Amino acid sequence: APAILWFRRDLRLYDHAALLAAARRSESVLAVFVLDDNLLRPAGASRRDFLYGCLRELDERLGHRLLIRHGEPAEVLPELAGRVGAESVHVSADTNPYGSRRDERVREALRERGVDWEVTGSPYAVTPGRITKADGTPYKVFTPFRRAWSEHGWPLPAETGVDTVEWMSPDGLDGVPVPDGELDAGPELPPPGETNALRRWHDFVESDLAEYNQRRDRPDIAGTSRMSAYLRWGCVHPRTMLRDLSRPDHHGAASYRNELAFREFYADVLWNWPASARYNFDTRFDRMPLDTGSEANALFDVWCAGRTGFPIVDAGMRQLLHEGWMHNRVRMIVASFLVKDLHLPWWWGARHFMLHLVDGDLASNQHGWQWAAGSGTDAAPYFRVFNPTTQGEKFDPSGEYVRRYVSELRGVDGSRVHRPWKLDGARAPDYPAPVVDHSHERQEALARYGRIKNS
Ligand code: FAD
Repeated sequence: APAILWFRRDLRLYDHAALLAAARRSESVLAVFVLDDNLLRPAGASRRDFLYGCLRELDERLGHRLLIRHGEPAEVLPELAGRVGAESVHVSADTNPYGSRRDERVREALRERGVDWEVTGSPYAVTPGRITKADGTPYKVFTPFRRAWSEHGWPLPAETGVDTVEWMSPDGLDGVPVPDGELDAGPELPPPGETNALRRWHDFVESDLAEYNQRRDRPDIAGTSRMSAYLRWGCVHPRTMLRDLSRPDHHGAASYRNELAFREFYADVLWNWPASARYNFDTRFDRMPLDTGSEANALFDVWCAGRTGFPIVDAGMRQLLHEGWMHNRVRMIVASFLVKDLHLPWWWGARHFMLHLVDGDLASNQHGWQWAAGSGTDAAPYFRVFNPTTQGEKFDPSGEYVRRYVSELRGVDGSRVHRPWKLDGARAPDYPAPVVDHSHERQEALARYGRIKNS
Protein backbone atom coordinates (compact mmCIF):
# COMPACT_ATOMS: atom_id res chain seq x y z
CA ALA A 1 0.00 0.00 0.00
CA PRO A 2 1.34 3.48 -0.80
CA ALA A 3 1.75 6.22 1.77
CA ILE A 4 0.32 9.65 1.04
CA LEU A 5 2.57 12.67 1.50
CA TRP A 6 0.38 15.75 1.76
CA PHE A 7 2.47 18.85 0.93
CA ARG A 8 1.39 22.16 2.51
CA ARG A 9 3.99 24.69 3.65
CA ASP A 10 6.89 22.38 2.80
CA LEU A 11 7.26 22.58 -1.00
CA ARG A 12 10.70 20.99 -1.25
CA LEU A 13 12.39 17.60 -1.42
CA TYR A 14 15.61 18.25 0.53
CA ASP A 15 15.63 18.08 4.36
CA HIS A 16 12.01 16.99 4.57
CA ALA A 17 11.31 14.91 7.67
CA ALA A 18 7.75 13.96 6.72
CA LEU A 19 8.93 12.77 3.31
CA LEU A 20 11.52 10.58 5.02
CA ALA A 21 8.85 9.16 7.32
CA ALA A 22 6.55 8.37 4.37
CA ALA A 23 9.36 6.69 2.42
CA ARG A 24 10.29 4.58 5.44
CA ARG A 25 6.72 3.50 5.93
CA SER A 26 5.94 2.46 2.36
CA GLU A 27 7.61 1.44 -0.84
CA SER A 28 5.73 3.97 -2.87
CA VAL A 29 4.58 7.47 -2.03
CA LEU A 30 1.71 9.46 -3.51
CA ALA A 31 2.54 13.21 -3.46
CA VAL A 32 -0.55 15.40 -3.00
CA PHE A 33 -1.31 19.11 -2.76
CA VAL A 34 -4.84 20.35 -2.06
CA LEU A 35 -5.94 23.76 -3.34
CA ASP A 36 -8.05 24.95 -0.41
CA ASP A 37 -10.18 28.06 -1.03
CA ASN A 38 -10.09 28.97 2.64
CA LEU A 39 -6.36 29.62 2.28
CA LEU A 40 -6.30 30.87 -1.29
CA ARG A 41 -8.97 33.54 -0.85
CA PRO A 42 -7.20 35.81 1.67
CA ALA A 43 -3.93 35.51 -0.24
CA GLY A 44 -3.65 38.04 -3.03
CA ALA A 45 -2.63 37.27 -6.60
CA SER A 46 1.11 37.60 -5.93
CA ARG A 47 1.16 34.99 -3.14
CA ARG A 48 -1.04 32.67 -5.18
CA ASP A 49 1.12 33.06 -8.29
CA PHE A 50 4.26 32.38 -6.31
CA LEU A 51 2.61 29.26 -4.83
CA TYR A 52 1.62 28.04 -8.28
CA GLY A 53 5.18 28.54 -9.50
CA CYS A 54 6.48 26.49 -6.56
CA LEU A 55 3.96 23.72 -7.30
CA ARG A 56 5.00 23.63 -10.94
CA GLU A 57 8.63 23.25 -9.96
CA LEU A 58 7.87 20.55 -7.40
CA ASP A 59 5.80 18.66 -9.96
CA GLU A 60 8.64 18.78 -12.48
CA ARG A 61 11.13 17.52 -9.94
CA LEU A 62 8.79 14.65 -9.12
CA GLY A 63 8.66 13.64 -12.77
CA HIS A 64 5.13 15.09 -13.06
CA ARG A 65 3.83 12.92 -10.26
CA LEU A 66 2.37 15.59 -8.00
CA LEU A 67 -1.37 15.09 -7.66
CA ILE A 68 -3.19 18.39 -7.29
CA ARG A 69 -6.77 18.35 -6.10
CA HIS A 70 -9.14 21.20 -5.40
CA GLY A 71 -11.48 21.03 -2.43
CA GLU A 72 -11.93 20.53 1.29
CA PRO A 73 -8.97 18.53 2.64
CA ALA A 74 -11.13 16.62 5.15
CA GLU A 75 -13.03 15.18 2.17
CA VAL A 76 -10.23 14.90 -0.39
CA LEU A 77 -7.68 13.00 1.70
CA PRO A 78 -9.92 10.23 3.11
CA GLU A 79 -11.40 9.72 -0.35
CA LEU A 80 -7.95 9.44 -1.91
CA ALA A 81 -6.63 7.17 0.84
CA GLY A 82 -9.61 4.87 0.26
CA ARG A 83 -9.10 4.86 -3.49
CA VAL A 84 -5.38 3.99 -3.48
CA GLY A 85 -5.54 1.85 -0.34
CA ALA A 86 -3.11 4.06 1.62
CA GLU A 87 -2.59 3.18 5.26
CA SER A 88 -1.02 6.46 6.28
CA VAL A 89 -1.06 10.18 5.46
CA HIS A 90 2.16 12.06 6.29
CA VAL A 91 2.49 15.80 6.92
CA SER A 92 4.73 18.43 8.47
CA ALA A 93 2.90 20.15 11.33
CA ASP A 94 0.87 23.27 10.55
CA THR A 95 0.56 25.19 13.81
CA ASN A 96 -1.43 28.17 12.53
CA PRO A 97 -5.00 28.50 13.90
CA TYR A 98 -6.72 27.51 10.64
CA GLY A 99 -4.18 24.77 9.87
CA SER A 100 -4.57 23.18 13.32
CA ARG A 101 -8.37 23.13 13.10
CA ARG A 102 -8.30 21.77 9.55
CA ASP A 103 -5.79 19.06 10.50
CA GLU A 104 -7.99 18.01 13.41
CA ARG A 105 -10.87 17.51 10.96
CA VAL A 106 -8.69 15.58 8.50
CA ARG A 107 -7.22 13.38 11.25
CA GLU A 108 -10.68 12.53 12.53
CA ALA A 109 -11.99 11.72 9.03
CA LEU A 110 -8.96 9.48 8.37
CA ARG A 111 -9.35 7.74 11.74
CA GLU A 112 -12.88 6.74 10.82
CA ARG A 113 -11.42 4.94 7.80
CA GLY A 114 -8.58 3.37 9.77
CA VAL A 115 -5.87 5.49 8.09
CA ASP A 116 -2.95 6.68 10.23
CA TRP A 117 -2.18 10.38 10.52
CA GLU A 118 1.57 10.94 10.88
CA VAL A 119 2.99 14.37 11.73
CA THR A 120 6.78 14.71 11.40
CA GLY A 121 8.62 18.02 11.70
CA SER A 122 7.29 21.52 11.08
CA PRO A 123 8.31 24.63 9.11
CA TYR A 124 10.45 25.69 12.08
CA ALA A 125 13.79 24.63 13.56
CA VAL A 126 11.93 24.08 16.83
CA THR A 127 8.25 23.21 16.52
CA PRO A 128 6.03 25.87 18.13
CA GLY A 129 4.88 24.90 21.61
CA ARG A 130 8.05 22.97 22.47
CA ILE A 131 9.87 25.72 24.33
CA THR A 132 8.55 26.77 27.71
CA LYS A 133 9.87 28.54 30.78
CA ALA A 134 10.89 26.47 33.79
CA ASP A 135 7.35 26.72 35.16
CA GLY A 136 5.92 25.26 31.94
CA THR A 137 4.38 28.52 30.65
CA PRO A 138 5.24 29.99 27.24
CA TYR A 139 7.58 32.94 26.70
CA LYS A 140 6.11 36.37 26.07
CA VAL A 141 9.44 38.15 25.63
CA PHE A 142 11.77 37.58 22.70
CA THR A 143 15.28 37.66 24.24
CA PRO A 144 14.78 34.87 26.81
CA PHE A 145 12.87 32.87 24.16
CA ARG A 146 15.81 33.18 21.78
CA ARG A 147 18.22 31.98 24.48
CA ALA A 148 16.03 28.95 25.28
CA TRP A 149 15.54 28.28 21.55
CA SER A 150 19.33 28.27 20.94
CA GLU A 151 19.87 25.99 23.91
CA HIS A 152 17.11 23.64 22.76
CA GLY A 153 18.85 23.21 19.39
CA TRP A 154 17.73 21.20 16.34
CA PRO A 155 19.00 18.30 14.28
CA LEU A 156 21.21 18.82 11.24
CA PRO A 157 19.40 18.81 7.88
CA ALA A 158 18.44 15.30 6.85
CA GLU A 159 19.38 13.93 3.44
CA THR A 160 16.07 12.65 2.14
CA GLY A 161 17.50 10.43 -0.58
CA VAL A 162 14.57 11.35 -2.82
CA ASP A 163 16.11 9.55 -5.76
CA THR A 164 15.31 6.27 -4.11
CA VAL A 165 11.65 7.11 -3.41
CA GLU A 166 9.18 5.52 -5.75
CA TRP A 167 6.58 8.18 -6.54
CA MET A 168 3.19 6.77 -7.36
CA SER A 169 1.61 7.90 -10.60
CA PRO A 170 -1.37 10.20 -10.05
CA ASP A 171 -3.05 9.08 -13.28
CA GLY A 172 -6.74 8.41 -12.91
CA LEU A 173 -7.00 10.20 -9.56
CA ASP A 174 -8.90 13.27 -10.79
CA GLY A 175 -6.02 15.68 -10.50
CA VAL A 176 -6.29 19.25 -11.76
CA PRO A 177 -3.47 21.19 -13.44
CA VAL A 178 -1.60 23.85 -11.49
CA PRO A 179 -3.73 26.98 -11.99
CA ASP A 180 -2.40 29.58 -14.39
CA GLY A 181 -0.76 32.65 -12.96
CA GLU A 182 -3.18 35.52 -12.48
CA LEU A 183 -0.77 38.38 -13.06
CA ASP A 184 0.24 39.17 -16.61
CA ALA A 185 2.39 42.06 -15.69
CA GLY A 186 2.52 43.59 -12.25
CA PRO A 187 4.53 42.56 -9.24
CA GLU A 188 8.04 41.36 -9.92
CA LEU A 189 8.03 38.17 -7.89
CA PRO A 190 11.08 36.16 -6.82
CA PRO A 191 11.70 33.09 -9.01
CA PRO A 192 9.70 30.29 -7.32
CA GLY A 193 10.69 26.86 -6.06
CA GLU A 194 13.31 24.95 -4.10
CA THR A 195 16.13 25.20 -6.65
CA ASN A 196 15.82 28.97 -6.78
CA ALA A 197 15.53 29.17 -2.99
CA LEU A 198 18.80 27.30 -2.47
CA ARG A 199 20.53 29.27 -5.17
CA ARG A 200 19.41 32.55 -3.64
CA TRP A 201 20.51 31.39 -0.19
CA HIS A 202 23.97 30.34 -1.33
CA ASP A 203 24.46 33.60 -3.24
CA PHE A 204 23.45 35.57 -0.17
CA VAL A 205 25.79 33.64 2.13
CA GLU A 206 28.66 34.13 -0.32
CA SER A 207 28.15 37.79 -1.12
CA ASP A 208 26.06 39.56 1.50
CA LEU A 209 26.00 37.71 4.81
CA ALA A 210 29.26 39.24 6.08
CA GLU A 211 27.78 42.73 5.92
CA TYR A 212 24.21 41.77 6.79
CA ASN A 213 24.19 43.38 10.23
CA GLN A 214 25.47 46.71 8.86
CA ARG A 215 23.19 46.81 5.86
CA ARG A 216 19.97 45.11 6.90
CA ASP A 217 18.31 48.38 7.92
CA ARG A 218 19.00 50.15 4.63
CA PRO A 219 16.14 49.91 2.12
CA ASP A 220 18.23 51.60 -0.58
CA ILE A 221 20.73 48.71 -0.57
CA ALA A 222 19.87 45.12 -1.52
CA GLY A 223 21.44 43.90 1.72
CA THR A 224 18.83 41.44 3.00
CA SER A 225 18.38 37.88 1.85
CA ARG A 226 14.89 38.06 0.24
CA MET A 227 14.37 34.52 1.59
CA SER A 228 10.99 35.28 3.22
CA ALA A 229 8.73 33.99 0.43
CA TYR A 230 10.77 30.77 0.22
CA LEU A 231 10.50 30.29 3.97
CA ARG A 232 6.77 31.02 3.79
CA TRP A 233 6.18 28.06 1.47
CA GLY A 234 8.91 25.84 2.88
CA CYS A 235 11.00 25.83 -0.32
CA VAL A 236 13.85 25.68 2.16
CA HIS A 237 13.82 24.54 5.80
CA PRO A 238 15.34 27.02 8.29
CA ARG A 239 17.52 24.18 9.60
CA THR A 240 19.32 24.14 6.26
CA MET A 241 20.01 27.85 6.64
CA LEU A 242 20.98 27.61 10.31
CA ARG A 243 23.61 25.03 9.41
CA ASP A 244 25.33 27.72 7.34
CA LEU A 245 25.05 30.25 10.17
CA SER A 246 26.80 28.37 12.91
CA ARG A 247 30.00 30.42 13.11
CA PRO A 248 29.62 32.21 16.44
CA ASP A 249 32.31 34.82 15.71
CA HIS A 250 30.61 35.97 12.53
CA HIS A 251 28.52 39.14 13.11
CA GLY A 252 26.45 38.73 9.98
CA ALA A 253 25.58 35.15 10.84
CA ALA A 254 24.66 36.03 14.44
CA SER A 255 22.43 38.84 13.30
CA TYR A 256 20.72 36.65 10.68
CA ARG A 257 20.16 33.90 13.26
CA ASN A 258 18.47 36.50 15.41
CA GLU A 259 15.98 37.28 12.64
CA LEU A 260 15.18 33.62 12.09
CA ALA A 261 14.62 33.39 15.85
CA PHE A 262 12.03 36.18 15.53
CA ARG A 263 10.20 34.10 12.95
CA GLU A 264 10.20 31.14 15.36
CA PHE A 265 9.17 33.31 18.32
CA TYR A 266 6.14 34.74 16.55
CA ALA A 267 5.06 31.26 15.44
CA ASP A 268 5.38 30.10 19.05
CA VAL A 269 3.31 33.06 20.30
CA LEU A 270 0.61 32.34 17.71
CA TRP A 271 0.53 28.67 18.69
CA ASN A 272 0.11 29.54 22.36
CA TRP A 273 -2.30 32.45 21.80
CA PRO A 274 -4.16 31.83 18.51
CA ALA A 275 -6.37 34.85 19.23
CA SER A 276 -3.33 37.13 18.86
CA ALA A 277 -3.85 36.89 15.08
CA ARG A 278 -6.95 39.06 15.49
CA TYR A 279 -6.98 40.71 18.88
CA ASN A 280 -4.60 42.87 20.87
CA PHE A 281 -2.18 40.76 22.86
CA ASP A 282 -2.07 43.57 25.44
CA THR A 283 -5.78 43.97 26.18
CA ARG A 284 -5.37 47.55 27.43
CA PHE A 285 -5.26 48.44 23.74
CA ASP A 286 -8.84 47.21 23.30
CA ARG A 287 -9.85 50.57 24.78
CA MET A 288 -7.57 52.65 22.55
CA PRO A 289 -9.72 55.26 20.77
CA LEU A 290 -9.34 54.64 17.02
CA ASP A 291 -10.63 56.44 13.96
CA THR A 292 -12.95 54.33 11.82
CA GLY A 293 -15.41 56.69 10.07
CA SER A 294 -15.54 57.78 6.45
CA GLU A 295 -12.62 60.18 6.86
CA ALA A 296 -10.58 57.30 8.30
CA ASN A 297 -11.51 55.17 5.31
CA ALA A 298 -10.34 57.88 2.96
CA LEU A 299 -7.00 58.17 4.79
CA PHE A 300 -6.63 54.41 4.66
CA ASP A 301 -7.08 54.46 0.87
CA VAL A 302 -4.43 57.17 0.58
CA TRP A 303 -2.04 55.07 2.69
CA CYS A 304 -2.71 51.92 0.60
CA ALA A 305 -2.05 53.79 -2.63
CA GLY A 306 1.18 55.40 -1.34
CA ARG A 307 -0.08 58.98 -1.60
CA THR A 308 0.35 60.25 1.96
CA GLY A 309 2.85 62.96 1.02
CA PHE A 310 5.52 61.35 3.25
CA PRO A 311 8.08 60.01 0.75
CA ILE A 312 9.45 57.01 2.67
CA VAL A 313 5.91 55.86 3.51
CA ASP A 314 4.76 56.23 -0.07
CA ALA A 315 7.85 54.50 -1.46
CA GLY A 316 7.21 51.52 0.83
CA MET A 317 3.53 51.23 -0.01
CA ARG A 318 4.30 51.41 -3.73
CA GLN A 319 7.10 48.85 -3.39
CA LEU A 320 4.50 46.53 -1.83
CA LEU A 321 2.14 46.95 -4.79
CA HIS A 322 4.96 46.69 -7.30
CA GLU A 323 6.96 43.75 -5.91
CA GLY A 324 4.70 42.04 -3.37
CA TRP A 325 7.46 42.75 -0.86
CA MET A 326 8.63 45.63 1.32
CA HIS A 327 11.89 46.15 3.17
CA ASN A 328 11.61 45.40 6.92
CA ARG A 329 12.63 48.90 8.08
CA VAL A 330 9.99 50.41 5.82
CA ARG A 331 7.35 47.91 7.00
CA MET A 332 8.00 49.29 10.50
CA ILE A 333 7.77 52.91 9.29
CA VAL A 334 4.53 52.50 7.31
CA ALA A 335 2.93 50.47 10.11
CA SER A 336 3.82 53.09 12.70
CA PHE A 337 2.43 55.77 10.39
CA LEU A 338 -0.91 53.97 10.00
CA VAL A 339 -1.30 53.49 13.74
CA LYS A 340 0.19 56.65 15.23
CA ASP A 341 -0.18 59.30 12.54
CA LEU A 342 -3.50 58.16 11.10
CA HIS A 343 -4.90 56.51 14.31
CA LEU A 344 -6.34 53.60 12.31
CA PRO A 345 -6.75 50.00 13.57
CA TRP A 346 -3.58 47.95 13.03
CA TRP A 347 -5.62 45.07 11.59
CA TRP A 348 -6.66 47.24 8.62
CA GLY A 349 -3.01 47.56 7.71
CA ALA A 350 -2.30 43.90 8.49
CA ARG A 351 -5.08 42.83 6.12
CA HIS A 352 -3.72 44.99 3.30
CA PHE A 353 -0.25 43.51 3.86
CA MET A 354 -1.60 39.94 3.84
CA LEU A 355 -3.37 40.63 0.58
CA HIS A 356 -0.26 41.91 -1.20
CA LEU A 357 2.78 40.31 0.42
CA VAL A 358 4.28 37.37 -1.41
CA ASP A 359 5.77 36.36 1.97
CA GLY A 360 2.49 37.05 3.84
CA ASP A 361 2.68 34.89 6.95
CA LEU A 362 0.05 35.14 9.67
CA ALA A 363 2.44 34.84 12.63
CA SER A 364 5.12 37.26 11.39
CA ASN A 365 2.64 39.72 9.93
CA GLN A 366 0.11 40.02 12.73
CA HIS A 367 2.84 40.18 15.37
CA GLY A 368 4.93 42.59 13.30
CA TRP A 369 1.86 44.81 13.23
CA GLN A 370 1.16 44.40 16.93
CA TRP A 371 4.80 45.27 17.62
CA ALA A 372 4.35 48.53 15.69
CA ALA A 373 1.00 49.23 17.36
CA GLY A 374 2.51 48.73 20.81
CA SER A 375 -0.04 46.06 21.65
CA GLY A 376 2.08 42.94 21.06
CA THR A 377 4.11 40.59 23.24
CA ASP A 378 7.19 42.72 23.74
CA ALA A 379 6.18 45.52 21.50
CA ALA A 380 7.87 48.82 20.80
CA PRO A 381 6.87 51.11 23.66
CA TYR A 382 3.89 53.07 22.41
CA PHE A 383 5.34 56.44 23.33
CA ARG A 384 8.26 55.96 20.91
CA VAL A 385 6.72 57.42 17.77
CA PHE A 386 8.65 57.07 14.50
CA ASN A 387 9.14 60.34 12.65
CA PRO A 388 8.73 59.30 9.00
CA THR A 389 10.91 62.16 7.75
CA THR A 390 13.94 61.57 9.97
CA GLN A 391 13.56 57.79 9.53
CA GLY A 392 13.78 58.37 5.79
CA GLU A 393 16.84 60.61 6.11
CA LYS A 394 18.57 58.12 8.40
CA PHE A 395 17.92 54.87 6.54
CA ASP A 396 17.71 56.15 2.96
CA PRO A 397 20.39 58.85 3.26
CA SER A 398 20.85 59.51 -0.44
CA GLY A 399 17.11 59.28 -1.19
CA GLU A 400 17.69 56.54 -3.73
CA TYR A 401 15.01 54.23 -2.35
CA VAL A 402 12.36 56.95 -2.53
CA ARG A 403 13.32 57.93 -6.08
CA ARG A 404 13.11 54.27 -7.16
CA TYR A 405 9.41 54.00 -6.27
CA VAL A 406 8.04 57.55 -6.26
CA SER A 407 8.29 58.70 -9.83
CA GLU A 408 7.01 62.23 -9.04
CA LEU A 409 10.19 62.81 -6.99
CA ARG A 410 12.68 61.35 -9.44
CA GLY A 411 14.02 64.75 -10.39
CA VAL A 412 14.95 65.70 -6.81
CA ASP A 413 18.58 65.08 -5.80
CA GLY A 414 19.94 63.64 -2.61
CA SER A 415 18.27 63.59 0.77
CA ARG A 416 16.15 66.65 -0.05
CA VAL A 417 13.72 64.14 -1.49
CA HIS A 418 12.56 63.40 2.07
CA ARG A 419 11.18 66.94 2.57
CA PRO A 420 9.30 67.71 -0.64
CA TRP A 421 7.27 70.43 1.09
CA LYS A 422 10.47 72.49 1.30
CA LEU A 423 11.03 72.35 -2.45
CA ASP A 424 10.00 75.02 -4.82
CA GLY A 425 6.49 73.89 -5.90
CA ALA A 426 7.56 73.52 -9.51
CA ARG A 427 10.05 70.74 -8.66
CA ALA A 428 7.50 68.01 -7.88
CA PRO A 429 4.13 69.35 -8.98
CA ASP A 430 2.34 65.98 -8.97
CA TYR A 431 3.45 64.81 -5.56
CA PRO A 432 0.76 65.17 -2.85
CA ALA A 433 1.10 67.49 0.15
CA PRO A 434 1.37 65.68 3.53
CA VAL A 435 -2.04 64.35 4.59
CA VAL A 436 -1.35 65.09 8.26
CA ASP A 437 0.94 67.22 10.40
CA HIS A 438 3.27 64.68 12.00
CA SER A 439 4.08 66.63 15.18
CA HIS A 440 0.40 67.28 15.81
CA GLU A 441 -0.56 63.62 15.27
CA ARG A 442 2.30 62.51 17.49
CA GLN A 443 0.82 64.56 20.35
CA GLU A 444 -2.61 63.17 19.56
CA ALA A 445 -1.29 59.58 19.66
CA LEU A 446 0.38 60.20 23.01
CA ALA A 447 -2.79 61.78 24.42
CA ARG A 448 -4.85 58.76 23.34
CA TYR A 449 -2.26 56.44 24.87
CA GLY A 450 -2.42 58.47 28.09
CA ARG A 451 -6.09 57.51 28.37
CA ILE A 452 -5.41 53.75 28.32
CA LYS A 453 -1.94 53.25 29.73
CA ASN A 454 -2.83 52.86 33.38
CA SER A 455 -6.10 51.05 32.82
P1 FAD B 1 16.05 39.22 6.01
O1 FAD B 1 16.46 40.48 6.69
O2 FAD B 1 17.01 38.62 5.07
O3 FAD B 1 15.68 38.20 7.19
C1 FAD B 1 15.84 36.79 7.07
C2 FAD B 1 14.59 36.08 7.48
O4 FAD B 1 14.34 36.26 8.89
C3 FAD B 1 13.35 36.58 6.80
O5 FAD B 1 13.18 35.98 5.53
C4 FAD B 1 12.26 36.18 7.79
O6 FAD B 1 11.90 34.84 7.63
C5 FAD B 1 12.95 36.34 9.12
N1 FAD B 1 12.64 37.67 9.69
C6 FAD B 1 13.34 38.81 9.53
N2 FAD B 1 12.79 39.81 10.25
C7 FAD B 1 11.72 39.27 10.87
C8 FAD B 1 10.73 39.80 11.75
N3 FAD B 1 10.74 41.08 12.16
N4 FAD B 1 9.75 38.98 12.17
C9 FAD B 1 9.71 37.68 11.78
N5 FAD B 1 10.62 37.13 10.95
C10 FAD B 1 11.61 37.91 10.51
N6 FAD B 1 7.80 38.61 7.53
C11 FAD B 1 7.24 37.61 6.85
O7 FAD B 1 7.91 36.64 6.51
N7 FAD B 1 5.92 37.64 6.51
C12 FAD B 1 5.11 38.69 6.85
O8 FAD B 1 3.90 38.68 6.54
C13 FAD B 1 5.69 39.79 7.55
N8 FAD B 1 4.94 40.88 7.88
C14 FAD B 1 5.54 41.91 8.58
C15 FAD B 1 4.74 43.02 8.96
C16 FAD B 1 5.30 44.08 9.67
C17 FAD B 1 4.44 45.26 10.09
C18 FAD B 1 6.67 44.03 10.02
C19 FAD B 1 7.30 45.17 10.79
C20 FAD B 1 7.45 42.94 9.66
C21 FAD B 1 6.90 41.87 8.95
N9 FAD B 1 7.69 40.75 8.56
C22 FAD B 1 7.08 39.71 7.89
C23 FAD B 1 9.10 40.62 8.97
C24 FAD B 1 10.14 41.15 7.96
O9 FAD B 1 9.79 42.43 7.53
C25 FAD B 1 10.33 40.24 6.75
O10 FAD B 1 10.51 38.91 7.17
C26 FAD B 1 11.54 40.65 5.93
O11 FAD B 1 11.44 41.97 5.50
C27 FAD B 1 11.70 39.70 4.75
O12 FAD B 1 12.75 40.08 3.90
P2 FAD B 1 14.10 39.24 3.86
O13 FAD B 1 13.84 37.80 3.66
O14 FAD B 1 15.02 39.92 2.89
O15 FAD B 1 14.64 39.48 5.34
